[in-house]
Amino acid sequence: MLGSGSAGNSALIATDHCKILVDGGLSARQIVVRLEQCGVAPEKLDGVLLTHEHGDHVCGLEVLCRKLDIPVYANALTAEAVRCDSALDRHRNWRIFRTGAEFNICDITVQTFPVPHDAVDPVGFAFRAGARSLGFITDLGYATKMLIERLREVHTLVIETNHDEKLLQNDPHRPWPVKQRIMSRHGHLSNTAAANVIEELLSGKIERVVLGHLSRDCNTPELATGVIRALLAKVGKIDMEIYCATQSEVSPRFRIGETKAGAFQPSFESAFFQTA
Ligand SMILES: [Zn+2]
Ligand SMILES: [Zn+2]
Repeated sequence: MLGSGSAGNSALIATDHCKILVDGGLSARQIVVRLEQCGVAPEKLDGVLLTHEHGDHVCGLEVLCRKLDIPVYANALTAEAVRCDSALDRHRNWRIFRTGAEFNICDITVQTFPVPHDAVDPVGFAFRAGARSLGFITDLGYATKMLIERLREVHTLVIETNHDEKLLQNDPHRPWPVKQRIMSRHGHLSNTAAANVIEELLSGKIERVVLGHLSRDCNTPELATGVIRALLAKVGKIDMEIYCATQSEVSPRFRIGETKAGAFQPSFESAFFQTA
């Protein structure tokens, strides 16, 4: 996780052959600095995948793409929303996928699925490389049945623990309509809601959870981790690894599995529509 929280989100997913960003919601400068901390030169990126068009997921993209011709992967509505009113309209390297599609970026298979959130066509991802996989759901009001099914096989799950319900309800700064939006079925997962999602996945292959997208005012890493730990203690799964990502620092590198050594043979990928 290069950084995660209500003020900005970006993550790096990498194999020996492939480096992709999920969202570009930090300043371009911070993305570059943090990639370098991970030993990745920004011009070596194989793509940026977008979950949805909200500023905390795309705000660094315009400047990043001004300097680099990185392929940007998004569904059509998200691409349209990001491109309107921004210099990204001049970016030529868009790869448009249909929500629900599965495609490859080098040796990483990307599965996309819709998530309920107040954006034009928000998605979550499941990534697979070798025999291991990673689920990625950051902005969603609740977990649909389909989404749970998509995530049953993942070993590591990145999930939002956006807010503590009490802190949000008692927050003096947010007007009621904003609180209602956050708590709605197209808003964000609370710590408890995220715990419920994790509980549903315990019968699957999950062995590590990375918590993210915490609200600065209405949550703390201690509260979020506490709720998840309490759940895992209740069901006797105390060996599960939990990490809470922060806004200001790059997380440790999470090793999800091994991929085959040796050269990777790229294959022709036909899942995309290039847009002019
Ligand atoms: Zn959002
Ligand atoms: Zn967000």
